[in-house]
Amino acid sequence: MEYQATQDRVGFMRRLRRGLNGLGRARMCCVCGKTFFRFSKYRGGWKAFSAYLHNLKWTGSDFDNFWCPFCRSHDRERHLMLYFDKMGFWEKMGGADILHFAPEKQLAKRIASCRPARYVKGDLVPSREGVEKIDVSDIPYAAASFDWVLCNHVLEHVPDDARALREIFRVLKPGGRAVLQTPFASGLEKTLEDTEEINTDEKRAEFYGQEDHVRLYGRDLFDRIRAAGFALEVKKHKECLSSVDAVRFGVNPDEPLFLCVKPDPGV
Ligand SMILES: [Zn+2]
Repeated sequence: MEYQATQDRVGFMRRLRRGLNGLGRARMCCVCGKTFFRFSKYRGGWKAFSAYLHNLKWTGSDFDNFWCPFCRSHDRERHLMLYFDKMGFWEKMGGADILHFAPEKQLAKRIASCRPARYVKGDLVPSREGVEKIDVSDIPYAAASFDWVLCNHVLEHVPDDARALREIFRVLKPGGRAVLQTPFASGLEKTLEDTEEINTDEKRAEFYGQEDHVRLYGRDLFDRIRAAGFALEVKKHKECLSSVDAVRFGVNPDEPLFLCVKPDPGV
């Protein structure tokens, strides 16, 4: 009984805080359309991350403006949704064959609503119904099966990322597109990985940004993607989404947007 009373109090306080937050107008979620005072932080926000990552200008998620308090979308999926709006990608996903790794919940709902011809969701460790167990380094689909592969913030977890990139390239149809957003350190020339001293959760969090990351990508990330055969276009937020106020919509204006295309020899 005592436990239940505590849970009820916690639930009440949470709802009250969210209700008060919802009185604000300064921020807006592009997924659920609600306005509020502030997004929620991830793990104490950016200041909780190591000096090493700060010094090397590690860029990826917006840890200070991470969760929408209402629909729980996170900044990375909001950024992609705004990008897809701008590029007209939703229309192209209608009738397309799509493979989506580690599918973000809100993004997956939006993709499904576009009525793709085939929508495969995969994860190495599936935690939701409808998600297949798929290793991105060994994709169990034939070559040229998909028009789109979405693999957002996954490569930094994959031991053999070169192999994963080759696999993504293989299963794409010529002219197919891959979305491969990955955090990287713009102040680091060459990717940091395979370092014997970085062998504990604490060290991986300090140097790679999270205990389950296996590397810290440097500026060579883009060459690594191109090495798999992709034509890669990297656009800054302000080039691509100049009309989107990053602060209001809770997305990281320093996160560039990558578009990877499998060249079509027939074009
Ligand atoms: Zn929302």
